[in-house]
Amino acid sequence: MATVGFPEKISPFLRSKLAALESSEGNSSPSYLGLARQYVYDPREDQDSKEQNAKHYEAAVQGPDHAHDLPGLERLYRRTLVIEPTLVCLAHCRYCLRSNYQKHTLTEKELIDVARYCGNAANRDTLNEVLITGGDPLIIPNRIEVLLNALIDHAPNIQIIRLATRLTTQDPTRIDESVLGLFLNKPSLRFELATQINHPVEFFQESIEAFAKVTDLGVRIYSQNVLLKGVNDDLDSLIELYDAMRRNRIEAHYLFHSVPIRGTHHLRTSVARGIDLARSLTSSGRISGRAKPMFAAMTDIGKITFYEGTIVDRRDGKLLLRSQYRLADRRAWNPTWQPPETAVVDQDGYLSVWYVDGEG
Ligand code: SF4
Repeated sequence: MATVGFPEKISPFLRSKLAALESSEGNSSPSYLGLARQYVYDPREDQDSKEQNAKHYEAAVQGPDHAHDLPGLERLYRRTLVIEPTLVCLAHCRYCLRSNYQKHTLTEKELIDVARYCGNAANRDTLNEVLITGGDPLIIPNRIEVLLNALIDHAPNIQIIRLATRLTTQDPTRIDESVLGLFLNKPSLRFELATQINHPVEFFQESIEAFAKVTDLGVRIYSQNVLLKGVNDDLDSLIELYDAMRRNRIEAHYLFHSVPIRGTHHLRTSVARGIDLARSLTSSGRISGRAKPMFAAMTDIGKITFYEGTIVDRRDGKLLLRSQYRLADRRAWNPTWQPPETAVVDQDGYLSVWYVDGEG
């Protein structure tokens, strides 16, 4: 049970792996904890904390009448549209409330409408890429096939498809013919599979084989990982993780500071700790130069990568992060987007945002 309202959900595959790790290495081993802390409910989720977000960000897209949101669409960026065909996941990652958003699974008609939106006159010159995420879209491969074919028919401007999934580590047997078939016979589309692996223990033999089936089709896999306290917030675990990704032909993308959503304070390090770890990981010669991630925060206004000058103020456990997003640009491709209360717009129209720091 969890009073933040995010029920524990662990796939039978993950349960069997947890049981095997507990029996072989014990329930205080780094491998067991590296998996358990991602999925097993922790009473600390119910403690009061300054992390209060119920969503990662607000970026709904409204219909032409501006009277209602188009279901399953989010847009923060010029080139890329986020499509969420379902918000159901096979397991609930404790640091992510996405599968606890108001549930929907889009109908075939709604998916075709999404494709039409992507290809309409307002979007065809700016959009060229979609991120199909959720939830986990690969639990409904037949609907995704409908969406892909509709994009081919109605949105020829969309050339790159990113499909986000954790099925590869939550139940790799689901990477079956119906999923692999999505990547076949669509020469106008280039596919990338996005995944999230946070600890080297997740390279189960079954997962390694599932990743290989996808890459053998010529599909690039990349992983955006989350820095989690007690899971991977030590240099050796990160080095092992990024080495394992490289061995398995998985490209590094973001290493995210854990998003300040409610019930996650015990899993969040400070940003300073994350920057220290990212510097050691990427500037010590201990991993391949081709395996280095970008350390970034998912803020209320979008992703911000940490560079010199990104943190411009600190107050009451919050950091003011400067972005190069401009309000006018954001509104050009999502006209009804409103800056959240945490955003600050400077005199040149650039957005900064207050971001709740973690501890330790
Ligand atoms: S990280 Fe992915 S699989 Fe996990 S709860 Fe969030 S959306 Fe679902």
